Amino acid sequence: MTDQSPLYNTYARSEFAFDHGEGAWLVDARGERYLDFGGGIAVNALGHAHPHLVAALQEQAAKLWHVSNLYEIPEQTRLAGRLVDATFADRVFFTNSGAEALECAFKTARRYHYAKGNPERWRIISFEGAFHGRTIATIAAGGQPKYLEGFGPKVDGFDQVPFGDLEALKQAISEETAALVIEPIQGEGGIRVVASDFMRALRDLCDRNGLLLILDEVQSGVGRTGRFFAHEWSGIGPDIMAVAKAIGGGFPMGACLATEEAASGMVPGIHGTTYGGNPLAMSAGNAVLDIVLADGFFDGVNDRANRLKQGLASLVDRYPGVFEEVRGQGLMLGLKCVVSNVALVRQLYANHMLTVPAGDNVVRILPPLVITDEEIGVALDRLEAAAAELSQQSE
Ligand code: PLP
Repeated sequence: MTDQSPLYNTYARSEFAFDHGEGAWLVDARGERYLDFGGGIAVNALGHAHPHLVAALQEQAAKLWHVSNLYEIPEQTRLAGRLVDATFADRVFFTNSGAEALECAFKTARRYHYAKGNPERWRIISFEGAFHGRTIATIAAGGQPKYLEGFGPKVDGFDQVPFGDLEALKQAISEETAALVIEPIQGEGGIRVVASDFMRALRDLCDRNGLLLILDEVQSGVGRTGRFFAHEWSGIGPDIMAVAKAIGGGFPMGACLATEEAASGMVPGIHGTTYGGNPLAMSAGNAVLDIVLADGFFDGVNDRANRLKQGLASLVDRYPGVFEEVRGQGLMLGLKCVVSNVALVRQLYANHMLTVPAGDNVVRILPPLVITDEEIGVALDRLEAAAAELSQQSE
């Protein structure tokens, strides 16, 4: 983007402009096809223009776009009920984005302690490398200097400890602590998987200290890791969970899920949103669940993920000058690079494949959950071509 652009200059955009999408492919105005392994950053879980989602939105668009939350929205109640049936949760609040789902999660945790007569318990502990969004509170929770700089004093109430450091976490808990917030797999942070025993230790620590466990599954949720939500791999459940991205299949929406107990402070008038839970978003969300909650869907994701991960592991073995390791769970994968991750993303552009860089010099590999075997083969060929080109350049 040049200085003449009418847009805020906040994104370092590439030169691509896509005209339409078909499944795992994005097509530009000249008809050039790109294999999309970024998926709008883990949003287009069912690929582009999935016929079931298109039909659901078209049907809803002809009926009703928006009504206020002053009225019953039957599709909202239905989607909430389906989420409750399929998860740890008893209650759902719908939002428009991930950051808003986190804001709701933080408010829910603080109100829980307030309603229990402990208003002094309002601080929330997070982990280094976290990303929880770009609002004033979520940049404080994420704690990353690059996102906090220039926005005044960091909002108080968020304490941060090193990733995976249980002792530091125990030290950080005080009489003012209300909750912990963690991504089961850090996305922006570089596809860093939280070990299952660490997840169980967190649950235990929360139970023993009367804290609420908030999971940020904005990126890892809705089938991405081969289970409905990533925390299911560890066998524990949270008290509160933020969801967004894939839940709308590309339509902007998010949700905050909570147990009855954790949500007990959220009484009438205490929180609200104009658009959250509107009929269009709810029709998209219900259509996504029709597919991901169908029998055998997650088994299929795991099969595809195993195939892809094996192929990536073989590339890592064969191109040690380009890749250090493959990591992640299900179809939330990362290639930790030896070369610069941005150089690999660019080389993949040249091979008509789209991926997304992350922290820790990682390239994120986030194909649609419905990727075919043939497309996995194409992706591995293109990754190999890019790796060979980068190897040659560095010789
Ligand atoms: N939490 C996580 C783990 C995310 O990956 C993101 C976005 O990338 C967010 C929160 C913020 O979501 P949104 O951009 O929809 O506000």
